[in-house]
Amino acid sequence: MTDYVISPYPRASAAVMSSKQRFPVRRIFCVGRNYGAHAREMGFSDKEPPFFFTKPADALAETGATIPYPPLTKDLHHEIELVLAVGKSGANIAAEDAMMHIWGAGVGIDFTRRDLQIAHREKGRPWDWGKAFDHSAPLSPLIPLADIPKAQAEFNTGRIWLSVNGELRQDADLSELIWSVTDIIAFCSQSVRLQAGDLIFTGTPAGVSAVGPGDSLSGGVDGIGEIQITLGEREAV
Ligand code: MN
Repeated sequence: MTDYVISPYPRASAAVMSSKQRFPVRRIFCVGRNYGAHAREMGFSDKEPPFFFTKPADALAETGATIPYPPLTKDLHHEIELVLAVGKSGANIAAEDAMMHIWGAGVGIDFTRRDLQIAHREKGRPWDWGKAFDHSAPLSPLIPLADIPKAQAEFNTGRIWLSVNGELRQDADLSELIWSVTDIIAFCSQSVRLQAGDLIFTGTPAGVSAVGPGDSLSGGVDGIGEIQITLGEREAV
């Protein structure tokens, strides 16, 4: 046993559907602007190659949780996303081999402090303060690839949606992804060696909007899972 000078923090992990076992989480990669209508609502074209940003693994939150409204923002946005769970490591993975590296999938919310993200973007600064804050990555229980309906085996179809207090805000289909799941694995693995335990948030469809303390968010991807999160009071840091 390694002898540490302070107690090491617990390993981040995600629940697994219909199982007491958990999925150990290593890193969280996120794809920006991967649905045309969302890219356009953010003021961009839908023709760009995929790009990535990251969140810390301990930004995860479980479905059913009440999470504090984060500090430093007046414009917290929801982004409902299909999330891939990597089960086998690899670098320079060909798109046609990508499915072999995926263990399963889930539904996540890429919470975004939009005001901070845009302010930093305009100054050419990193996105981190807009994207990588505490509780910024709620995630449903993961479903193993083998349990996903055959028609959705490569995530090419399936309704993706999110409601706030029962009002539908995001409603799209995985068929609208600009870059497919297998393309995303290929691109990401050109930059880093993907490792077992990595998660990839695959981008959000149009309809992102602001939420506030007390709001209840529900979302899902048909055939994959559902997530529910309540926003608590503003966090005092
Ligand atoms: Mn996103």
